[in-house]
Amino acid sequence: MHNAAFAALGLDYVYVPLPVKAERVGEAVRGLAALGFRGANVTIPHKGAVIPFLDEVSGDARLVEAVNTIVVDGGALRGHNTDVEGVRAALVEVAGESIAGEPALVLGAGGAGRAAALALARLGCPLTIVNRTPAAAERLAALITAGVPDAACDWLPLSALTGRHVAGRRVVVNATSLGMAGEGKVPALLADNVTAGQVVFDAVYASGTTDFLVAAQARGATVVDGVTMLLWQAAGAFTLWTGLPAPLEVMRDAVKG
Ligand code: NAP
Repeated sequence: MHNAAFAALGLDYVYVPLPVKAERVGEAVRGLAALGFRGANVTIPHKGAVIPFLDEVSGDARLVEAVNTIVVDGGALRGHNTDVEGVRAALVEVAGESIAGEPALVLGAGGAGRAAALALARLGCPLTIVNRTPAAAERLAALITAGVPDAACDWLPLSALTGRHVAGRRVVVNATSLGMAGEGKVPALLADNVTAGQVVFDAVYASGTTDFLVAAQARGATVVDGVTMLLWQAAGAFTLWTGLPAPLEVMRDAVKG
């Protein structure tokens, strides 16, 4: 996506994947400036771990305790979170502004869950956060309540989730790693209780639609895939690094191609 965008705009940048071991995150981040990098994306599982090594962290990144984009500005390392805008833009692109203010359920309280919760709370959606580890759901609900004026946010352990919780929310989000290759599956309880008229978003990006979205679509829901979020978070990162509007359709063709 990024290399297609750089080529389309004639920019002399290249985007490369660099696996980093957890114990060497600090060295990797501090090395970006020395190596002449303009920036980096940070992905699972390092989005929180990079924060102590940055010189500045944006308000959204601080609120969700996750950085997915680093910009090297002179010698300074600045952390941002474009996943929040990625969720908002993907939902609005597919489902329209009518989701604003509608009740939403977010499964997951990691980096993607926090981004989804913040985006939905800012859209005025009353939120229920559901997570396997209850303490993380409780903590995220507290972060959202403290960080977004007038937010309505409660939480549930995954073990207490029922079909009624799912059916009663207009927007249903999977923001766990369930559904990724090699991970478990999204609990059938979710897809089995989806009805037409609901908007179902899966942050997991797979080659093709995830099983969860296939099932939700079969039940008549409007589905939003993780690739659309990936595109929008990338567009935000592109602009942070280059100062230019992202060539969205070039990037969409590259990522969906
Ligand atoms: P993370 O911070 O590691 O969080 C993982 C989440 O999944 C936690 O809520 C965790 O619950 C839950 N989980 C993991 N295994 C589970 C299981 N067996 N049963 C129930 N819950 C389980 O990861 P992340 O960064 O949020 O990423 C989550 C997914 O979103 C990944 O697939 C990632 O690729 C995707 N993502 C997509 C985009 C995009 O642009 N489309 C952006 C960011 C992330 P516990 O708290 O109980 O461990």
